[in-house]
Amino acid sequence: MKVVHVASEAVPYVKTGGLGDVMGSLPAALRSLGVDSLLVVPFYDKIIPSSFRFEKVKSGSLAMGGRVLPYTILRHDSTYFVSQPELYGRESVYSTREGDYPDNWLRFAFFARAALETIVALGGADVIHVHDWQAALLPVYLRTTMPERTEKTLLTIHNIAYQGIFPASVLADIQLPESVFTIHGLEFYGKLNYLKGGIVWSDEISTVSPTYAHEILTPELGFRLNGILEVRREHLTGILNGIDYSYWNPATDAALPYLYSASSLEGKERNKQHVLQEAGITSHPGFPLFAMISRLVSQKGLDLMLGAWDQLMALPLNLIMLGTGDPEIETALQDKANQYPDRFVLNRRFDEGLAHRLYAGSDFFLMPSRFEPCGLSQMIALRYGSVPVVRRTGGLKDTIQDVHPKTGVGNGISFDEATPSSFLDAVKRAVQLYATPDAYRRVQAIGATCDYSWQASARDYLALYQSMSAANQ
Ligand code: ADP
Repeated sequence: MKVVHVASEAVPYVKTGGLGDVMGSLPAALRSLGVDSLLVVPFYDKIIPSSFRFEKVKSGSLAMGGRVLPYTILRHDSTYFVSQPELYGRESVYSTREGDYPDNWLRFAFFARAALETIVALGGADVIHVHDWQAALLPVYLRTTMPERTEKTLLTIHNIAYQGIFPASVLADIQLPESVFTIHGLEFYGKLNYLKGGIVWSDEISTVSPTYAHEILTPELGFRLNGILEVRREHLTGILNGIDYSYWNPATDAALPYLYSASSLEGKERNKQHVLQEAGITSHPGFPLFAMISRLVSQKGLDLMLGAWDQLMALPLNLIMLGTGDPEIETALQDKANQYPDRFVLNRRFDEGLAHRLYAGSDFFLMPSRFEPCGLSQMIALRYGSVPVVRRTGGLKDTIQDVHPKTGVGNGISFDEATPSSFLDAVKRAVQLYATPDAYRRVQAIGATCDYSWQASARDYLALYQSMSAANQ
């Protein structure tokens, strides 16, 4: 079985969120099951560390965007990179503070086509597995320009809120025929929708948790693609992501000041005091420490927190946040940080090391998401003994079992309603739980026994690939 993944980010080269984590671990997990599993990503000249040694594999050019654009394919281990400095040699991956790069339509159409050419040059594959809208045009190019190819295609939707919607006028510039611009194709309310193209032209579609696979069929969470997904419902499935248990391991994590394991939590307390010191929170070191590490966008439920802020800060707790995103949300949170400097610290940056220290140092991990396709942070938090406090949606529903009021059994605290008061009630329950150390330790211990490693999920993907390529015979 040969599978080539195509995605816009992958650890350890480039990461803006969960997609990068998944692409850093799924291909390797598949290799451990005997799959010949490769990956293609863009080469972001200014972001990918130059310490990696890249080998040049091939070069080519594509007529796109009204000109001929050359590209080079580089390789490092099992990952191939599409190098085109004009398109990918930018300060960031998708956007600047002013908004998305205006030529993202070209950057990711070019990427999809160049990736496809590369796969063909590498001798093809049984399955081409494309991820999110940035790679979603690949199946469209495959079926419209290479009818003789036998590869099967799987599209995984990591977040349906991001679709790649562009003016219809770019269609000719991305070298697709007029005939794809119909309601049953790429057309979407008069515009072009790359993700919709992937949904229509892929053989199979998956998303990153079973609950989210149901949710995206609803008008509420389908972001106007629920209709076309309904048409393809029989080809839609949900496979939960995992995390890399060797990378995310508090017993060996080089980013931590103090190593610890589920059975010796003393080291965790020392990490807590370390991050409190680092944040300058010194007045109430005995309060439970809540952490949140997140893209600061409306999806993540920050409005629920902001709506309950004064009551939140009236509780005996400290809070450290790490994240960047929507400037309005950042500013609103910064105002709160200025107002409560001894209890709440906001770190407005992307910082992998601090993220590790916060998972390790916190007692609770907040994810009040309005929607959450899978969520990896809650899995990491469980692994580091930080009890997740989550809204019951998408993958959070599939991974976090609320502590039972009578038995005390559960691996976290969850709430249903997307309201500030429900969020606040959940945090109050967390504070109460912390006040009963035995009960709190029990929840922590249950969390540590959960297994959200890639083993099970990689097997599910393999079974899906096998059923797809069997359909070829
Ligand atoms: P999403 O994919 O929606 O961003 P996930 O929970 O699936 O959310 O994955 C988020 C990943 O990104 C986690 O590994 C989290 O630790 C990391 N992350 C998010 N923001 C930051 C940040 N500012 N600094 C470091 N890591 C971050």
